[in-house]
Amino acid sequence: MTTDYIIVGGGFAGLFLAHQLIKNGKNFQLFSDGKIGASQVSAGIVNPVVLKKFTTFWKAQEQIVHLQKTMLEIAEYTGENFLVNEQVYRIFHDEKEKEIWQKKREQPDLQNFLSSEFVDFQIVSNPFATGKVLQSARLNVKGFFQGMQDFLRKNNFLIEETFDYEKLNPENSTYGNLKFSKIIFAEGIAARQNRFFKNLPIVPNKGHHLLVKFPEPLNLSATLKKKHFLFSVDENIFYYGGTYDRENLGNSIDEAAISQLKNGLSEIYDGSFEIIEKKFGFRPTVKDRRPILGRHPVYRNLFIFNGLGARGILNASYFSQHLFDLAENGTALPQEIDLRRFT
Ligand SMILES: Cc1cc2nc3c(=O)[nH]c(=O)nc-3n(C[C@H](O)[C@H](O)[C@H](O)COP(=O)(O)OP(=O)(O)OC[C@H]3O[C@@H](n4cnc5c(N)ncnc54)[C@H](O)[C@@H]3O)c2cc1C
Repeated sequence: MTTDYIIVGGGFAGLFLAHQLIKNGKNFQLFSDGKIGASQVSAGIVNPVVLKKFTTFWKAQEQIVHLQKTMLEIAEYTGENFLVNEQVYRIFHDEKEKEIWQKKREQPDLQNFLSSEFVDFQIVSNPFATGKVLQSARLNVKGFFQGMQDFLRKNNFLIEETFDYEKLNPENSTYGNLKFSKIIFAEGIAARQNRFFKNLPIVPNKGHHLLVKFPEPLNLSATLKKKHFLFSVDENIFYYGGTYDRENLGNSIDEAAISQLKNGLSEIYDGSFEIIEKKFGFRPTVKDRRPILGRHPVYRNLFIFNGLGARGILNASYFSQHLFDLAENGTALPQEIDLRRFT
Protein backbone atom coordinates (compact mmCIF):
# COMPACT_ATOMS: atom_id res chain seq x y z
CA MET A 1 0.00 0.00 0.00
CA THR A 2 1.21 3.53 -0.73
CA THR A 3 0.17 6.91 0.60
CA ASP A 4 1.25 10.53 0.12
CA TYR A 5 1.44 11.34 3.82
CA ILE A 6 1.46 9.74 7.24
CA ILE A 7 0.38 11.91 10.18
CA VAL A 8 1.24 10.70 13.68
CA GLY A 9 -1.15 12.04 16.34
CA GLY A 10 -4.82 12.94 16.27
CA GLY A 11 -5.00 16.10 18.43
CA PHE A 12 -5.52 19.62 17.08
CA ALA A 13 -2.14 19.52 15.31
CA GLY A 14 -2.91 16.23 13.53
CA LEU A 15 -6.52 17.09 12.68
CA PHE A 16 -5.82 20.55 11.25
CA LEU A 17 -2.99 19.03 9.22
CA ALA A 18 -5.44 16.39 8.00
CA HIS A 19 -7.68 19.23 6.86
CA GLN A 20 -4.86 20.67 4.74
CA LEU A 21 -4.41 17.28 3.08
CA ILE A 22 -8.15 16.78 2.51
CA LYS A 23 -8.46 20.27 1.05
CA ASN A 24 -5.57 19.64 -1.32
CA GLY A 25 -6.74 16.19 -2.42
CA LYS A 26 -3.87 14.26 -0.84
CA ASN A 27 -3.97 10.68 0.25
CA PHE A 28 -2.93 10.04 3.85
CA GLN A 29 -3.06 7.81 6.89
CA LEU A 30 -3.43 9.39 10.33
CA PHE A 31 -2.29 7.29 13.28
CA SER A 32 -4.17 7.98 16.50
CA ASP A 33 -3.57 5.93 19.64
CA GLY A 34 -6.97 6.94 21.05
CA LYS A 35 -5.48 8.41 24.22
CA ILE A 36 -7.01 11.63 25.49
CA GLY A 37 -4.46 14.31 24.64
CA ALA A 38 -4.37 18.00 25.58
CA SER A 39 -6.76 18.87 22.77
CA GLN A 40 -9.64 16.80 24.10
CA VAL A 41 -9.46 18.31 27.58
CA SER A 42 -9.06 21.85 26.29
CA ALA A 43 -11.74 24.47 26.78
CA GLY A 44 -11.82 25.28 23.08
CA ILE A 45 -11.49 29.01 23.68
CA VAL A 46 -10.41 31.11 20.73
CA ASN A 47 -9.17 34.37 22.12
CA PRO A 48 -6.96 37.07 20.56
CA VAL A 49 -6.18 38.70 23.93
CA VAL A 50 -3.85 37.68 26.76
CA LEU A 51 -6.33 38.28 29.56
CA LYS A 52 -3.82 38.67 32.38
CA LYS A 53 -2.10 41.64 30.80
CA PHE A 54 -4.58 42.85 28.18
CA THR A 55 -2.12 42.42 25.35
CA THR A 56 -2.37 40.59 22.06
CA PHE A 57 0.09 38.32 20.27
CA TRP A 58 1.89 37.69 17.01
CA LYS A 59 -0.50 37.37 14.05
CA ALA A 60 -3.62 37.23 16.26
CA GLN A 61 -5.86 38.95 13.70
CA GLU A 62 -4.67 36.80 10.80
CA GLN A 63 -5.10 33.68 12.89
CA ILE A 64 -8.69 34.52 13.83
CA VAL A 65 -9.67 35.22 10.21
CA HIS A 66 -7.91 32.06 9.09
CA LEU A 67 -9.68 29.92 11.68
CA GLN A 68 -13.11 31.25 10.68
CA LYS A 69 -12.40 30.38 7.04
CA THR A 70 -10.99 26.97 7.96
CA MET A 71 -14.04 26.03 10.04
CA LEU A 72 -16.29 26.86 7.08
CA GLU A 73 -14.16 24.61 4.85
CA ILE A 74 -14.37 21.80 7.42
CA ALA A 75 -18.15 22.26 7.64
CA GLU A 76 -18.36 21.47 3.92
CA TYR A 77 -17.41 17.83 4.51
CA THR A 78 -18.42 17.24 8.15
CA GLY A 79 -21.76 19.01 7.77
CA GLU A 80 -21.26 21.32 10.77
CA ASN A 81 -19.45 24.51 11.70
CA PHE A 82 -17.99 23.69 15.12
CA LEU A 83 -17.09 27.29 15.91
CA VAL A 84 -19.57 28.56 18.52
CA ASN A 85 -20.32 32.26 18.32
CA GLU A 86 -20.02 32.90 22.07
CA GLN A 87 -17.62 35.62 23.16
CA VAL A 88 -15.27 35.78 26.14
CA TYR A 89 -16.09 38.31 28.90
CA ARG A 90 -13.31 39.19 31.32
CA ILE A 91 -14.58 39.72 34.89
CA PHE A 92 -12.72 42.73 36.31
CA HIS A 93 -11.07 42.40 39.71
CA ASP A 94 -11.46 46.12 40.51
CA GLU A 95 -12.02 49.59 39.04
CA LYS A 96 -8.33 49.96 38.26
CA GLU A 97 -8.37 46.99 35.89
CA LYS A 98 -11.32 48.49 34.09
CA GLU A 99 -9.38 51.72 33.57
CA ILE A 100 -6.40 49.77 32.21
CA TRP A 101 -8.74 48.02 29.75
CA GLN A 102 -10.12 51.39 28.61
CA LYS A 103 -6.63 52.76 28.09
CA LYS A 104 -5.44 49.66 26.26
CA ARG A 105 -8.32 49.78 23.85
CA GLU A 106 -6.92 52.99 22.44
CA GLN A 107 -3.91 51.05 21.14
CA PRO A 108 -4.18 50.23 17.41
CA ASP A 109 -3.38 46.54 17.99
CA LEU A 110 -6.10 46.17 20.64
CA GLN A 111 -8.96 48.39 19.50
CA ASN A 112 -10.51 45.62 17.40
CA PHE A 113 -10.37 43.16 20.30
CA LEU A 114 -11.34 45.10 23.48
CA SER A 115 -14.94 46.30 23.51
CA SER A 116 -15.84 49.69 24.97
CA GLU A 117 -19.03 48.17 26.30
CA PHE A 118 -19.05 46.79 29.87
CA VAL A 119 -21.54 44.07 30.70
CA ASP A 120 -23.07 42.91 33.98
CA PHE A 121 -23.98 39.24 34.35
CA GLN A 122 -26.66 38.33 36.88
CA ILE A 123 -25.67 34.70 37.44
CA VAL A 124 -22.15 35.34 38.75
CA SER A 125 -20.51 37.82 41.06
CA ASN A 126 -19.05 40.63 38.93
CA PRO A 127 -19.23 43.83 40.99
CA PHE A 128 -16.92 45.67 38.59
CA ALA A 129 -18.67 44.27 35.50
CA THR A 130 -16.98 42.52 32.57
CA GLY A 131 -15.24 43.53 29.35
CA LYS A 132 -16.13 41.75 26.12
CA VAL A 133 -13.34 40.38 23.92
CA LEU A 134 -14.37 41.12 20.33
CA GLN A 135 -13.77 38.38 17.75
CA SER A 136 -13.37 35.72 20.46
CA ALA A 137 -15.27 32.45 20.07
CA ARG A 138 -15.29 28.84 21.24
CA LEU A 139 -14.68 25.62 19.41
CA ASN A 140 -17.11 22.84 20.24
CA VAL A 141 -14.24 20.47 20.99
CA LYS A 142 -16.29 17.29 21.39
CA GLY A 143 -18.23 17.93 18.19
CA PHE A 144 -15.06 18.78 16.27
CA PHE A 145 -13.38 15.51 17.28
CA GLN A 146 -16.47 13.45 16.50
CA GLY A 147 -17.02 15.15 13.17
CA MET A 148 -13.40 14.88 12.04
CA GLN A 149 -12.90 11.30 13.25
CA ASP A 150 -16.14 10.13 11.57
CA PHE A 151 -15.03 11.69 8.31
CA LEU A 152 -11.53 10.19 8.52
CA ARG A 153 -12.93 6.75 9.36
CA LYS A 154 -15.43 6.82 6.52
CA ASN A 155 -12.70 7.69 4.02
CA ASN A 156 -10.17 5.17 5.35
CA PHE A 157 -7.77 7.90 6.43
CA LEU A 158 -7.66 6.85 10.10
CA ILE A 159 -5.53 4.11 11.64
CA GLU A 160 -6.60 3.73 15.25
CA GLU A 161 -3.39 2.40 16.70
CA THR A 162 -0.10 3.57 18.21
CA PHE A 163 2.54 4.44 15.64
CA ASP A 164 5.53 2.18 16.30
CA TYR A 165 8.77 4.09 15.60
CA GLU A 166 10.65 0.77 15.25
CA LYS A 167 8.67 -0.02 12.09
CA LEU A 168 9.71 3.21 10.41
CA ASN A 169 12.45 3.09 7.82
CA PRO A 170 13.10 6.70 6.77
CA GLU A 171 15.68 5.71 4.14
CA ASN A 172 13.17 3.63 2.15
CA SER A 173 10.16 5.77 3.18
CA THR A 174 8.35 2.74 4.55
CA TYR A 175 6.40 1.95 7.69
CA GLY A 176 5.99 -1.82 7.72
CA ASN A 177 4.27 -2.55 4.41
CA LEU A 178 3.13 1.02 3.97
CA LYS A 179 5.11 3.15 1.53
CA PHE A 180 4.79 6.88 2.08
CA SER A 181 6.18 10.06 0.55
CA LYS A 182 6.24 12.18 3.70
CA ILE A 183 5.54 11.76 7.36
CA ILE A 184 4.47 14.50 9.77
CA PHE A 185 4.85 13.96 13.50
CA ALA A 186 2.18 15.74 15.55
CA GLU A 187 2.29 13.80 18.81
CA GLY A 188 2.03 16.63 21.36
CA ILE A 189 4.30 16.05 24.38
CA ALA A 190 4.96 12.45 23.27
CA ALA A 191 7.33 13.96 20.69
CA ARG A 192 9.90 14.10 23.47
CA GLN A 193 10.30 10.33 22.96
CA ASN A 194 10.51 10.58 19.17
CA ARG A 195 14.15 9.77 18.42
CA PHE A 196 14.12 11.78 15.20
CA PHE A 197 13.16 15.06 16.86
CA LYS A 198 13.77 14.47 20.53
CA ASN A 199 16.17 17.31 21.23
CA LEU A 200 13.55 19.98 20.64
CA PRO A 201 12.72 22.08 23.74
CA ILE A 202 9.09 21.02 24.18
CA VAL A 203 8.04 21.56 27.80
CA PRO A 204 4.88 19.98 29.23
CA ASN A 205 2.52 22.26 31.09
CA LYS A 206 -0.15 20.31 32.92
CA GLY A 207 -3.71 21.62 32.94
CA HIS A 208 -6.83 20.39 34.76
CA HIS A 209 -10.46 21.14 34.12
CA LEU A 210 -13.73 20.35 35.84
CA LEU A 211 -17.21 19.68 34.61
CA VAL A 212 -19.61 20.93 37.26
CA LYS A 213 -23.34 20.54 37.71
CA PHE A 214 -25.36 23.40 39.15
CA PRO A 215 -28.66 22.60 40.93
CA GLU A 216 -30.61 24.52 38.27
CA PRO A 217 -30.01 25.45 34.63
CA LEU A 218 -28.14 28.75 34.27
CA ASN A 219 -28.80 30.87 31.26
CA LEU A 220 -25.36 31.74 29.86
CA SER A 221 -24.39 32.00 26.22
CA ALA A 222 -20.93 33.47 26.75
CA THR A 223 -17.60 32.44 28.25
CA LEU A 224 -16.75 34.14 31.53
CA LYS A 225 -13.18 34.48 32.73
CA LYS A 226 -11.80 35.65 36.05
CA LYS A 227 -9.26 33.05 37.15
CA HIS A 228 -10.37 30.39 34.64
CA PHE A 229 -12.89 29.95 31.85
CA LEU A 230 -16.54 29.13 32.63
CA PHE A 231 -19.06 28.20 29.95
CA SER A 232 -22.14 26.06 29.52
CA VAL A 233 -21.93 22.67 27.85
CA ASP A 234 -25.50 21.65 28.56
CA GLU A 235 -28.24 23.44 30.57
CA ASN A 236 -26.83 23.09 34.11
CA ILE A 237 -23.49 21.40 33.18
CA PHE A 238 -20.54 23.78 32.89
CA TYR A 239 -16.86 23.53 31.96
CA TYR A 240 -14.44 25.28 34.32
CA GLY A 241 -10.69 25.36 33.64
CA GLY A 242 -7.85 25.12 33.06
CA THR A 243 -4.97 25.34 35.46
CA TYR A 244 -1.26 25.67 34.59
CA ASP A 245 1.56 23.68 36.21
CA ARG A 246 5.09 23.03 34.99
CA GLU A 247 6.29 21.32 38.17
CA ASN A 248 3.90 18.50 39.07
CA LEU A 249 3.86 16.40 35.96
CA GLY A 250 2.62 13.07 37.31
CA ASN A 251 0.09 11.05 35.37
CA SER A 252 -2.81 11.51 37.78
CA ILE A 253 -5.18 14.17 39.05
CA ASP A 254 -3.52 16.74 41.34
CA GLU A 255 -5.79 17.62 44.22
CA ALA A 256 -4.08 21.03 44.59
CA ALA A 257 -5.20 21.89 41.05
CA ILE A 258 -8.74 20.73 41.82
CA SER A 259 -8.81 22.94 44.95
CA GLN A 260 -7.56 25.85 42.89
CA LEU A 261 -10.44 25.33 40.46
CA LYS A 262 -13.04 24.92 43.22
CA ASN A 263 -11.85 28.13 44.88
CA GLY A 264 -11.77 30.01 41.59
CA LEU A 265 -15.34 29.03 40.81
CA SER A 266 -16.55 29.79 44.35
CA GLU A 267 -15.13 33.28 43.99
CA ILE A 268 -17.61 34.08 41.23
CA TYR A 269 -20.49 31.72 42.08
CA ASP A 270 -21.75 31.55 45.65
CA GLY A 271 -24.22 28.65 45.23
CA SER A 272 -23.47 24.94 45.46
CA PHE A 273 -22.17 22.82 42.60
CA GLU A 274 -21.29 19.19 42.12
CA ILE A 275 -18.08 18.13 40.36
CA ILE A 276 -19.00 15.48 37.81
CA GLU A 277 -15.70 15.22 35.93
CA LYS A 278 -12.02 16.04 36.56
CA LYS A 279 -9.56 15.73 33.71
CA PHE A 280 -6.03 16.80 32.90
CA GLY A 281 -3.74 17.07 29.90
CA PHE A 282 -0.28 18.34 29.02
CA ARG A 283 0.13 21.38 26.79
CA PRO A 284 3.24 21.12 24.59
CA THR A 285 4.82 24.52 25.27
CA VAL A 286 7.94 26.31 24.06
CA LYS A 287 9.86 28.98 25.94
CA ASP A 288 9.43 31.63 23.23
CA ARG A 289 5.67 30.80 22.98
CA ARG A 290 5.88 29.99 19.29
CA PRO A 291 5.14 26.63 17.72
CA ILE A 292 7.88 24.40 16.35
CA LEU A 293 7.64 23.37 12.71
CA GLY A 294 10.14 21.96 10.33
CA ARG A 295 11.94 19.29 8.43
CA HIS A 296 14.44 16.73 9.67
CA PRO A 297 18.00 17.86 8.74
CA VAL A 298 18.99 14.42 7.41
CA TYR A 299 15.78 12.56 6.54
CA ARG A 300 14.11 15.15 4.30
CA ASN A 301 10.82 13.21 4.20
CA LEU A 302 10.27 13.66 7.98
CA PHE A 303 8.51 16.73 9.43
CA ILE A 304 7.30 17.92 12.81
CA PHE A 305 4.37 20.10 13.93
CA ASN A 306 4.39 20.79 17.66
CA GLY A 307 4.67 23.34 20.48
CA LEU A 308 1.12 24.65 20.16
CA GLY A 309 1.13 25.83 23.79
CA ALA A 310 -1.93 27.42 25.34
CA ARG A 311 -3.34 28.50 21.96
CA GLY A 312 -3.69 25.10 20.36
CA ILE A 313 -6.64 25.89 18.12
CA LEU A 314 -5.41 29.12 16.55
CA ASN A 315 -1.86 27.79 16.19
CA ALA A 316 -2.92 24.44 14.72
CA SER A 317 -5.30 25.95 12.22
CA TYR A 318 -2.98 28.75 11.04
CA PHE A 319 0.42 27.05 11.01
CA SER A 320 -0.75 23.72 9.56
CA GLN A 321 -0.91 25.59 6.28
CA HIS A 322 2.74 26.63 6.65
CA LEU A 323 3.76 23.05 7.27
CA PHE A 324 1.80 21.84 4.26
CA ASP A 325 3.43 24.49 2.04
CA LEU A 326 6.86 23.46 3.30
CA ALA A 327 6.27 19.73 2.78
CA GLU A 328 4.52 20.07 -0.56
CA ASN A 329 6.28 23.02 -2.21
CA GLY A 330 9.41 23.59 -0.14
CA THR A 331 8.14 27.05 0.91
CA ALA A 332 10.47 28.44 3.58
CA LEU A 333 9.03 28.85 7.06
CA PRO A 334 9.11 32.17 8.93
CA GLN A 335 12.16 31.88 11.17
CA GLU A 336 10.00 32.58 14.27
CA ILE A 337 8.45 29.10 14.01
CA ASP A 338 11.23 27.17 12.29
CA LEU A 339 12.78 24.39 14.40
CA ARG A 340 16.20 25.60 13.20
CA ARG A 341 15.97 28.52 15.64
CA PHE A 342 17.04 25.98 18.28
CA THR A 343 20.06 24.60 16.49
C1 LIG B 1 -6.79 22.07 30.51
C2 LIG B 1 -6.39 22.63 29.18
C3 LIG B 1 -7.16 23.65 28.60
C4 LIG B 1 -6.81 24.18 27.37
N1 LIG B 1 -7.62 25.13 26.81
C5 LIG B 1 -7.34 25.61 25.58
C6 LIG B 1 -8.22 26.53 24.96
O1 LIG B 1 -9.23 26.92 25.53
N2 LIG B 1 -7.92 26.97 23.71
C7 LIG B 1 -6.80 26.54 23.04
O2 LIG B 1 -6.58 26.96 21.90
N3 LIG B 1 -5.94 25.65 23.60
C8 LIG B 1 -6.18 25.18 24.84
N4 LIG B 1 -5.33 24.28 25.43
C9 LIG B 1 -4.06 23.95 24.73
C10 LIG B 1 -4.29 22.91 23.65
O3 LIG B 1 -5.09 21.90 24.18
C11 LIG B 1 -2.95 22.34 23.15
O4 LIG B 1 -2.15 23.35 22.61
C12 LIG B 1 -3.19 21.33 22.03
O5 LIG B 1 -4.14 20.42 22.44
C13 LIG B 1 -1.95 20.60 21.58
O6 LIG B 1 -2.36 19.79 20.50
P1 LIG B 1 -1.46 18.63 19.92
O7 LIG B 1 -2.22 18.01 18.81
O8 LIG B 1 -0.10 19.14 19.65
O9 LIG B 1 -1.30 17.59 21.14
P2 LIG B 1 -2.36 16.59 21.76
O10 LIG B 1 -3.70 17.18 21.85
O11 LIG B 1 -1.76 16.10 23.02
O12 LIG B 1 -2.48 15.43 20.69
C14 LIG B 1 -1.45 14.52 20.40
C15 LIG B 1 -2.11 13.17 20.19
O13 LIG B 1 -1.16 12.28 19.59
C16 LIG B 1 -1.26 11.03 20.21
N5 LIG B 1 0.00 10.29 20.00
C17 LIG B 1 1.21 10.54 20.55
N6 LIG B 1 2.11 9.63 20.13
C18 LIG B 1 1.46 8.79 19.30
C19 LIG B 1 1.85 7.63 18.56
N7 LIG B 1 3.11 7.15 18.59
N8 LIG B 1 0.92 7.00 17.81
C20 LIG B 1 -0.35 7.48 17.74
N9 LIG B 1 -0.79 8.56 18.43
C21 LIG B 1 0.12 9.21 19.20
C22 LIG B 1 -1.51 11.40 21.67
O14 LIG B 1 -2.02 10.32 22.41
C23 LIG B 1 -2.52 12.52 21.51
O15 LIG B 1 -3.83 12.02 21.40
C24 LIG B 1 -5.66 23.71 26.67
C25 LIG B 1 -4.89 22.68 27.24
C26 LIG B 1 -5.24 22.14 28.48
C27 LIG B 1 -4.41 21.03 29.05
